[in-house]
Amino acid sequence: MKIAIYPGTFDPVTCGHLDILRGASKLFDRVVGAVGINPGKVPLFPAEERVTMLREAAAEAGLVNVEAVAFAGLTVDCAREWNAEYIVRGLRAVTDFEHEFSLLLANEQLDNSIQTVFIMPSVNYLYLSSSVVRQASEFGRRIIPGSVPTCVEERLREKFGF
Ligand code: ADP
Repeated sequence: MKIAIYPGTFDPVTCGHLDILRGASKLFDRVVGAVGINPGKVPLFPAEERVTMLREAAAEAGLVNVEAVAFAGLTVDCAREWNAEYIVRGLRAVTDFEHEFSLLLANEQLDNSIQTVFIMPSVNYLYLSSSVVRQASEFGRRIIPGSVPTCVEERLREKFGF
């Protein structure tokens, strides 16, 4: 069985993340969306809520072999915990490359039995990020059309009262 983890902050999960998950769900038998708990970062949504939204979004999209969990610590340790031999990451414009490549090299040195696989999103999501979604909601009280699944849109509206 081919198992992959897709680690990220998912604050909140966007349609771009979902596009990557859709691709991963075709390549792997089981995909674990792993929501990172980073003590150094104050997220908009707490980890449990990010996990719930990721789970709901995957269900909304009909991705039956995708699940969502929280993790703290190293990505390679999370992969081992879930018996995953693959780490999936998304690559948008070239600006992602340097950062993603350095993560890949570090993870490879930590555990070279785990393979990182990059998936590129469809052109609609190339410039979409969680931070753009957060800023539009926080400062503009707006949802960028087509940027987030319904379960996230509802929570953003509730949080910012629009
Ligand atoms: P992190 O803090 O680990 O970068 P993110 O939730 O921002 O967490 O992103 C998780 C992964 O999803 C990263 O590999 C990122 O490049 C990818 N990603 C985020 N948004 C998109 C998008 N719109 N299209 C494709 N990949 C994306």
